[in-house]
Amino acid sequence: MNMGIRGRTALVCAASKGLGRACAEALAAEGVNLTILARGAEALEATAAAIRAAHGVTVTAVAADITTPAGREAVLAACPAPDILINNAGGPPPGDFRAWDEAAWQTALNANMVTPIMLIRAVIDGMIERRFGRIVNITSGAVKAPIPMLGLSNGARTGLTGFVAGLSRQVARHNVTINNLLPGMFLTDRLRSNFAAEASKSGKTVEQIADLRRAGNPSLRFGELEEFGAACAWLSSAQAGYVVGQNILLDGGAFAGTL
Ligand code: NAP
Repeated sequence: MNMGIRGRTALVCAASKGLGRACAEALAAEGVNLTILARGAEALEATAAAIRAAHGVTVTAVAADITTPAGREAVLAACPAPDILINNAGGPPPGDFRAWDEAAWQTALNANMVTPIMLIRAVIDGMIERRFGRIVNITSGAVKAPIPMLGLSNGARTGLTGFVAGLSRQVARHNVTINNLLPGMFLTDRLRSNFAAEASKSGKTVEQIADLRRAGNPSLRFGELEEFGAACAWLSSAQAGYVVGQNILLDGGAFAGTL
């Protein structure tokens, strides 16, 4: 399927690795020019070079922390008018909620709720004027089924989801869509570190935890990064203009609800 976005411009946040990178690669494969961002310059430049070489699109790399006003300013200076915005950032740490003081909550809310809202606020009026915009927020399956040890994530991402549910209906008439992609388990650095936290508590190895998680999933596997990227490219496509305010779960069937 031709996604109808060749030559468009995307800003993909937190994209040197993992799910963000998968989204960047899938958009580049559709001919979308990219600005990608992460804090670590070395991995980011390597990713940018790999995407340029594979897909021949323009890739601008901005080494910055998306959770800071200065980081957002830097990336928006490089890409002031994206047609497509992929919101992503590192996830909050796991733990017991008794250990999280007000500062821990402010940090999580800033990274996983306020930061994407600030980016949406910065780019959405331009999308409305140009009558095309696709915003995809990478959230988590935890929005549908909270994960006990990830209370900071459960809370912050659900706040973003509630805000987006309202805003998406206000901008749909301008061919600007906002949707959320909810990853289940994709074996990235982030998931490995969550497994390491579980392993240290349970006395099992990280591999044993990973095996248990695979075996407990209806698909008996983790998700493939390409599968995640493909879903992001489709939500960013011209054809997805009638998909508004949705929360699309990619979890191999782990969430056992009928709807
Ligand atoms: P990952 O493989 O660890 O990659 C994280 C990426 O984000 C890296 O490129 C990292 O680069 C960048 N990053 C992190 N913090 C950043 C910041 N403050 N500013 C700019 N870039 C930043 O993680 P992932 O698995 O792709 O996870 C992406 C998001 O999805 C996270 O919020 C995670 O909690 C969520 N999620 C993941 C899964 C899963 O199964 N993997 C499931 C549910 C939810 P630098 O460190 O160099 O900045």
